[in-house]
Parts: sequence; structure tokens; C-alpha cells
Amino acid sequence: MTAHTLDELLADGVRGRHVLVRSDLNVPLDGSTVTDDGRVRASLPVISKLAEAGARVIVMAHLGRPKGMPEEKYSLRPAVDRLAELASFPVRLADDVVGPSARELSAELGDGEVLVLENVRFDARETSKIDAEREDLARELAALTGADDAPRGAYVDDAFGAVHRKHASVYDIASILPSYLGELVRAEVEVLKRLTEGAERPYVVVLGGSKVSDKLAVIDNLIGKADRLLVGGGMLFTFLAAQGHKVGSSLLERDQIPTVQAYLERATAAGTEFVLPTDVVVASKFAADAEHEVASADAIEETGFGEAGIGLDIGPDTAAAFAKEIAGAKTVFWNGPMGVFEFPAFAAGTKAVAQALADATAAGALTVVGGGDSAAAVRTLGFADSQFGHISTGGGASLEYLEGKELPGLTALGA
Ligand code: ADP
Ligand code: MG
Repeated sequence: MTAHTLDELLADGVRGRHVLVRSDLNVPLDGSTVTDDGRVRASLPVISKLAEAGARVIVMAHLGRPKGMPEEKYSLRPAVDRLAELASFPVRLADDVVGPSARELSAELGDGEVLVLENVRFDARETSKIDAEREDLARELAALTGADDAPRGAYVDDAFGAVHRKHASVYDIASILPSYLGELVRAEVEVLKRLTEGAERPYVVVLGGSKVSDKLAVIDNLIGKADRLLVGGGMLFTFLAAQGHKVGSSLLERDQIPTVQAYLERATAAGTEFVLPTDVVVASKFAADAEHEVASADAIEETGFGEAGIGLDIGPDTAAAFAKEIAGAKTVFWNGPMGVFEFPAFAAGTKAVAQALADATAAGALTVVGGGDSAAAVRTLGFADSQFGHISTGGGASLEYLEGKELPGLTALGA
């Protein structure tokens, strides 16, 4: 089965029809300020196309991980305010998901108007493990498109960041309404296919970020596929520990050491080379203003901070070595910041890798940045989206795709 596309829906005509769109508006917030509006911007084209074609658009989205009930700090309000600023059409936010406000406002929608439902995860059925509960919510969501008019309703999945979830607004809804693949999801899948099926070589993968266990499955699947795996970020310390080095008070997932050791042993025979840091920026404490020194990767505890030292970035030699590997690549996938880039003193490694990817893009390589924090990092460090081949909006989803897992949201659409 091949999935129906947004263009097919637009060709069918949407004027006067209610169209439910699952978008990814899961933006990072500082209080009620959107610190990176990348996902809002990325969601805008599909919503705009539908609105401009006269559809009555109902957007479903989640933000953070509320516990199945309304919580002010997880309101979509800041994301919706940003959407309204960027949009050329009226946008309203319902007070609830499928309650009286959502029902009333959807019924009132005019052609070309947009309603965003409150955080779908305010309804516990969205993420329920019980099929009947999710299906129940999906039916109520579908009903917002007009009960008598139901065959005229439609569903568009444009939330790549959620396709790996078997949730009501992503999975169950697709078996109720005629369903279509949004352009964002289509573009993501196209790029990820190029990374998994016959990527142009050399193929270099750069991994960082804070949790090794999150990324181990993808490493497992990339051994034998990627030519080089460069490891930075918080996960590098588990790799150094696996090689027998001491890592002071750095982030360490001790229980993952045997798994990492097995990967290191397997890689060479499979034709994949791990490139591990040779130097690290070690800080006295986890703070923006911490004192810091560059240490050799095998002597992290030999700085003035002793065992208390915490590695918060890759060192300058490592950053240069990583940049050189990236410069020689035809395909680069990067997930996870190289250091605690949120603190300017520890952002150099991440910046160097971002610059190397930007240069590789300019030289004709396919470069892909995946992961919410990585995408936020390149933007806060002053890079433009156009300096990369593709910035994935889905962190977990793109990793699961690269792991070779089946993604429920894509399966439901026949993609
Ligand atoms: P992404 O969202 O791109 O997949 P992650 O969520 O895995 O990335 O990790 C991002 C976080 O990793 C950042 O907030 C960054 O501060 C943190 N990080 C990077 N390097 C380190 C380190 N050496 N120690 C602790 N945290 C780190
Ligand atoms: Mg993250």
C-alpha cells in the first residue's frame, strides 16, 4: 500500500471540509517563551496550504509529557501564539482536547480558519496502552470534523516527531478518517531512507547528547553501515570507561559498559571505525561559570579538580579531528550535542561540529541533523537551517527509523 499524499487531498478539494492535522508543536520553552520556534515554522507550510485551499483546519499536537490531565505549564498557548504571529490566517486555541470548547470552536470554524486543540496529552487516552481507550479518543477527535459530514473529514499526519508513537492522534485516527501523509513526514522519510539504504560513502555518523542508553540501539544498527562513528557528548564517558579510562565525575552509564565494549569489539570486523575523543574539557562543577581545563582523554582525573572533575565538552584536538572526518564525508548524520552547549564555555565542540557539517554541505555532502537539542543547538549557535541538508524535527522518531524499527504512525498511513 502506498500512502496518500497531501497533494492528493488538495486535488480532491478541501474547501468547507474539516481537516484534522497532527502537527509537531513540541517546542522548547523557558517559562512561556518559545526558545526555538523551528517546529512551529516547520509545521506552517502544511497548515497554510490547507487553510489557503479553504479547509477548516483542526490541529492536534502535544507538548512535553503531561500526565494525562491539563497542566498549565504544558499548554500549547506559547506555541500557538508563535504560530499565529507567523500565519496569514486566523488561529485559535481550544481550552480542551475534545471537550465543549473544542466541539464548539470546531463547529464554528469558517473556511480557511485554523483551530488548535489543547495538548492532546491532556487526555490520558492519547497515550493509553489499551487499544479501546485510544480508539475512543480517536473517534471523538474524528467527530470534530462533523458527525453527519464524517466522510468529508480527513486526517493529515505532519508530525514526524510523533510517528514512532502508537497514540490516538497519530495511529488510531488513521483507521477512522481518510488519511494523508503530510509533507514534513514525507520529506523526513525520504532523507532517512537515503541514510539507511545505500548512503553515499564515506558515511560518517556523529553521536553525542546526554543518554547513551537512548542511542545504543541506533549504534548497534549503524555498525556495518557507517564508515565512521564519532562519539562525543555525555555518552563519550561510557566509551572511555569501556576502554578502561577513569572519567572523574562525568556522566557515566556504568551498566552500559559491557554493551559498549561489545560494540567496540564488533565494529572493526564490520568495517566501522569508532573515533573517540583524545581530549576533553574538564570542569570543576556542572555550571556555566565553572573553572575548566583541557585534559587528555586518558587523564581526566589528573586535572586540578581530581576525581571531582566533570567532562563538559570535547577538547580542541578532538573537535579538529572530528571536523576533518566530517570534511572527508559524502554523507553525515549528526545526533546529540558534543558538550553542554547551553553554557557558552562548553559550546566549542558542538560549534566546531556544526561548522564542519555546514562546510560539508557547501562541498556537496548530504548532511542531516537529528534530535531536538541538536537542532536547537545549531540555531542558538547562529547557524541557518539552509547550511544543512536537512534538520530533522523528530529526535526519537529519526533514531528509531535508523534503528530499523517499524514506526506505527507510518504503518497506519501505509507509508
Ligand atoms: P538530542 O535532543 O539532540 O537527541 P540529547 O537529548 O540526547 O540530544 O542530549 C542533549 C543534551 O546533552 C544537551 O542538553 C547537552 O547539555 C547534554 N550534554 C552534552 N554533552 C554533555 C556532557 N558532557 N555532560 C552532560 N550533558 C551533556
Ligand atoms: Mg533531547
